[in-house]
Amino acid sequence: MLVFHTDRSLGHDPDRYFRRGKIVAHPESAERYDVLLGAALKAGALSQAPEDNGLEPILRVHSQDYVDFLAQAWSRRAEIPGGISDEILGTHFAKPQMHRRPVGLLGQMGYYTCDTSTPVRAGTWGAVYWSAQAAISSAEAALKGEPAYALCRPPGHHAFSDAAAGFCYFNNAAIAARHMGHLTGGRIAILDIDVHHGNGAQSIFYEDPNVLTISLHCDPSDYYPFFSGYEDETGSGPAEGLNRNFALPPGTGDEAFLSALTTAIEAIRTFNPAGLVVALGLDAGKDDPVGAFGITEDGFAQIATRIGDAGLPTTFIQEGGYLCDALPKNLTAFLSAFQSTQAD
Ligand SMILES: [Zn+2]
Repeated sequence: MLVFHTDRSLGHDPDRYFRRGKIVAHPESAERYDVLLGAALKAGALSQAPEDNGLEPILRVHSQDYVDFLAQAWSRRAEIPGGISDEILGTHFAKPQMHRRPVGLLGQMGYYTCDTSTPVRAGTWGAVYWSAQAAISSAEAALKGEPAYALCRPPGHHAFSDAAAGFCYFNNAAIAARHMGHLTGGRIAILDIDVHHGNGAQSIFYEDPNVLTISLHCDPSDYYPFFSGYEDETGSGPAEGLNRNFALPPGTGDEAFLSALTTAIEAIRTFNPAGLVVALGLDAGKDDPVGAFGITEDGFAQIATRIGDAGLPTTFIQEGGYLCDALPKNLTAFLSAFQSTQAD
């Protein structure tokens, strides 16, 4: 198994986050990169630098104007009257009732983001760009028969085609899926096991009959991302029935999660995809500081075993999962268990 990563991830290190009325330390810290990399290496994964495949695979998912905005935002910071500190952050957001694209940087920041969790800092573009490249390289490796884990930081599964959200800028899993589809000409499945709904992939592929999107997550009726992730969102047009949401109650543990996963994997088998992209959030872990589920280390190993037994070319894309003692243990257990299925 390979782990694709670059230390450009360390260049994006947001340090503060507005949560439940308070400014707190940003959970998606650069330290996650070192912790997750150590855990992947401990599982026996081989370190690989991603190749640079340029913007073309990214532009199969994201709009040109959004990509241009992210690439240029930091260098435009002098446009903001009075200057800025160490980051550009939007605090006013477009809604369906008012969504004209403004000219100025601060307005555009709100136009291209959904919340206050995705600042642009000096190293953000490099981290975002190279995380996408890691996802692309891992997708290619998986298709060549080499299971791969992309250590994407920042993560991606909340990002829309034209907007950042929930710590995410480029939707790395969606980019990997489109790249796999491009290379194989076949259908691809995305399985999202992060505790939060994979709303970005749902949005991107909602009418795409070539990509099955399945997300297992905490019921959004009182949990982020609140506005999507319900079980009656099933895809539309030619993709009707190809979006599946398992909105599980807070506190869901191994047994209930694995039961839903079994149904999800049956749906993937029926779809018969050429490749599988797993949006690997570890924030379903019982000790996760922002999580809501009770998945144990053994539970993560069992999840990985079920995925491995599906026997598909598989790439894992790092999503959520925040600093706690259990975080690296859960990743090591997950990747180790997956590799055991490949040795059979
Ligand atoms: Zn999450």
